[in-house]
Amino acid sequence: MNFDAYARTGVDLVNARLDDLDDLRAIFPDDNAWMHDEVAERDLTIFRRAQKRLRDVFEYGTSGRDAEAVAELNALLETFPVQPRISGHDSSDWHMHVTSRGASVSSEYLAGAVWGLSVWLCEYGSARFGVCADERCGNVYLDTSSNCCRRFCSERCATRSHVAAHRARKRAAVDQLPVPAQPEPLTPVS
Ligand SMILES: [Zn+2]
Ligand SMILES: [Zn+2]
Repeated sequence: MNFDAYARTGVDLVNARLDDLDDLRAIFPDDNAWMHDEVAERDLTIFRRAQKRLRDVFEYGTSGRDAEAVAELNALLETFPVQPRISGHDSSDWHMHVTSRGASVSSEYLAGAVWGLSVWLCEYGSARFGVCADERCGNVYLDTSSNCCRRFCSERCATRSHVAAHRARKRAAVDQLPVPAQPEPLTPVS
């Protein structure tokens, strides 16, 4: 099983809007027909709760609270246990599922996501769990940079934030220029 791909499903979930079932379907892989078909309203509630707990893991990681990140992931591993099983939806496409037969969409998706993020933490450390430095964004990401220095979820946020910082510096420089002297009012000649 590719733990990296599973970890990324965790990132996708934390960054997703979850207003309704269509929002939820948007995070499932396109070729995963059974998830698209069988996801139900009760899954939405479970996904929303898990989304908040997974965001906490990223908040802990990014702020150096390593033990708390581990404790939260261990609690999530208990709630969403992995139970590997070979599955085939049309008898000719054997592939792995991470939960037992008859498990709900939320159990399957979350067991994979939590497991992937847990292996990721052991492999690379909680300091590589990031929250985008652009406050208007708030997306989370896994930092794969060579020196663990990534601060934004995407190029888009990095560029936007650099442009804003550049403008702010320019404004500050303008504010420090001496105020031009007002011209003397003309005294009317009587
Ligand atoms: Zn399947
Ligand atoms: Zn961002």
